[in-house]
Amino acid sequence: MDSELRSQAARYVQLLRRSGKKNAWLPAGLTRRLPGPTDRAAVAQPLRARAEAICHLPSARASSPNPQAAIRNPIQVPEGTKTERLAALKKQTSACTICPHLAKSRTQVVFGVGDPEAKLMFVGEAPGADEDEQGEPFVGRAGQLLTKMIAAMELTRAQVYIANVLKCRPDMPPNASGNRKPTRDEMEACLPYLRAQVAVIAPQVIVALGATAVEGLFGPQKTPISRLRGTWLELDGVPVRPTFHPSYLLRNQNLTEKRKVWEDLLAAMERLNLPISEKQRGFFLKA
Ligand code: URA
Repeated sequence: MDSELRSQAARYVQLLRRSGKKNAWLPAGLTRRLPGPTDRAAVAQPLRARAEAICHLPSARASSPNPQAAIRNPIQVPEGTKTERLAALKKQTSACTICPHLAKSRTQVVFGVGDPEAKLMFVGEAPGADEDEQGEPFVGRAGQLLTKMIAAMELTRAQVYIANVLKCRPDMPPNASGNRKPTRDEMEACLPYLRAQVAVIAPQVIVALGATAVEGLFGPQKTPISRLRGTWLELDGVPVRPTFHPSYLLRNQNLTEKRKVWEDLLAAMERLNLPISEKQRGFFLKA
């Protein structure tokens, strides 16, 4: 079994263990490529046991000094520069079929964009239709607002890194418009890719855009985003500033809400020791 298939199988087992599901599916791509079960017992083996067995094949043990480590940290990124490592990770992510319904419905995987050396990373929830079509996160209406917010920080999209918790557009019924919120299972399946991105880029600050991004990063929250914003969380040692999603600001043009998001961005700038002008400090304050 190749290492990518083993990695996907390991992540699938993790997902099963966390969700405690008994009748879960096996990824279609995985079942197609598995050594075919030749006896009735193997066919009758419960899905969970089969998936677990996949991760303990002799070849998996032989190729890793600690097979359990591969299960805990299943995304293996080869050595190299940050650009090379991100390119390798993008290749792995683009081949992902852990969520077969999304692999089928997506135009492409929307991996992420920006400077591999970025100090500041923005994390949103999932690609929409525009992002699915163009292969780049935050290029639709909300994305255009995010680009303006970045410009207000005196930065460009090329100087930061932008990604989503979910790398595929959540599938929609035929002819339906709009977007749906990613499910917990989808976000859990995809989070290791984002964490691997964070590990490679090693940003000094992450800004989490909206409640769903926070849920994708940290699991379901009792505290609403309106109270999480203005505070600092932490992901794998990186400070995370939750704030409202740009699409919330598109729906709610209230100056007070814009100011709250701007204060989160000012806090991120302070943490990054970026210069802040008096004019910037005064943005979205009432005259
Ligand atoms: N909203 C998101 O959360 N991500 C995108 O890429 C676009 C819109």
